[in-house]
Amino acid sequence: MKTGAFSDRPSEASRVNDILIVGGGISGTLAATTLGRAGYRVCLIDRYPIYPPDFRAEHLDGPQIDQLHRLGLLDDLTRGLYRGETVTTARFGRVIGTDRTVNYGLRYEAFVNRARAHLPAHVRTIVGRVNSIETSDTLQRVRMSGGNTVAGRLVILATGHGNAICQQIGIRRRMVRKAHSLTFEFNIEPVAGSLFEHSFLVYQRERIRDQVDYLATFTLGATTRVNLFTYRDYRDPWTKAFLSDPDTGLAQVLPGLASVIGPYRTIGPAVARPVDLYVSEGYRRDGVVMIGDVFQTACPATGMGMVRLLTDIEQLCMVHLPRWLETPGMSAAKIATFYDDPVKQACDARASHDAEYRRSVSTETTLRWHLHRSRIRVTERVNGWRNHVPASSHPRISMDGSEPSLAAG
Ligand SMILES: Cc1cc2nc3c(=O)[nH]c(=O)nc-3n(C[C@H](O)[C@H](O)[C@H](O)COP(=O)(O)OP(=O)(O)OC[C@H]3O[C@@H](n4cnc5c(N)ncnc54)[C@H](O)[C@@H]3O)c2cc1C
Repeated sequence: MKTGAFSDRPSEASRVNDILIVGGGISGTLAATTLGRAGYRVCLIDRYPIYPPDFRAEHLDGPQIDQLHRLGLLDDLTRGLYRGETVTTARFGRVIGTDRTVNYGLRYEAFVNRARAHLPAHVRTIVGRVNSIETSDTLQRVRMSGGNTVAGRLVILATGHGNAICQQIGIRRRMVRKAHSLTFEFNIEPVAGSLFEHSFLVYQRERIRDQVDYLATFTLGATTRVNLFTYRDYRDPWTKAFLSDPDTGLAQVLPGLASVIGPYRTIGPAVARPVDLYVSEGYRRDGVVMIGDVFQTACPATGMGMVRLLTDIEQLCMVHLPRWLETPGMSAAKIATFYDDPVKQACDARASHDAEYRRSVSTETTLRWHLHRSRIRVTERVNGWRNHVPASSHPRISMDGSEPSLAAG
């Protein structure tokens, strides 16, 4: 059975790869699959043979579904998962509306390891840490911590938060905001009965002073997962108190939640993870191109992390890279066509804009933002009446885990 585990897959010892991908998280692995399926000689390198447990994106919905479909990856990544059809939005103890949206949920490491299990057989994989790279406008060399080197025409950097190689070749990271947001994950269960009614629920903030954006519930295995998106400081005593008693913390910040989902209790430990917002600078270089989080991060509350990296993969692997490989050389001028791609630029700009916007709309106390929020609430109600899907058509989630997974972003 395919497990998603990497091993040192051998290939011709002296082969010069078309593409070396450093980083086998979701960006690097999906790029390797796309390029491998197109017939290129690809080598994918990562520190871990199996991607370890990691709290990150736990669901797919909206534009991400269309992107994965266009890349031909959706079926392999979602086979056997529960397919949600709707998202229900609620606030102040009431359902605002239900929209149709295909959605799936699974833990991040399961997502990456599923993707790894579907790498084409001829994609070479190497387990190990890359220590340094030497780049030029013709041939690139990647040096592993054990001293071995691997050569290729182009290096794709997909190292996520890992910044050491970027620094080594002079790419800088500009911090937009350290600890921009703080996302919590934990599980809940109904106090009575065995079902929550809504398969995918987005419950929105009730008070600005709480610095909460929204909460999303979805099923993960045998449990219902909660992602709570906030703009709290992880060093704040409030955060410590929430982590030690999420039942009380949740009831305080979202008192109306129980009216929508029924009496609930949290189970297991809660985890909180801050996310830094940063962008790269000085990245226009010979022989190397960046995709995913290593280039720019997105706030988890916006769902733009996955949208950004899938846009990078679509534009790089399906539009630009095939053209670059048609002619000799891999100059910075060639690679600039990807960074200057209007689709990529618009997506990156939207990720930055949405991160700032969601933070402001969730925390700002000026009159302008109060009025803005009032307008949103009216629009939400009107849209809710227009798009309402009868409650009987909501997929129901069984707490025994027979219908796995959903989430929000
Ligand atoms: C708490 C949290 C919640 C999130 N929620 C959402 C959400 O709801 N929706 C959404 O769209 N996005 C969300 N995101 C963002 C999303 O998870 C990221 O955009 C995505 O995981 C980035 O993937 P990546 O492949 O670029 O990086 P990673 O997954 O970090 O992969 C990087 C890989 O590079 C490898 N690596 C690094 N350095 C080296 C080296 N020197 N040598 C060899 N290998 C190396 C690492 O081992 C790793 O496997 C969330 C993020 C966080 C932190």
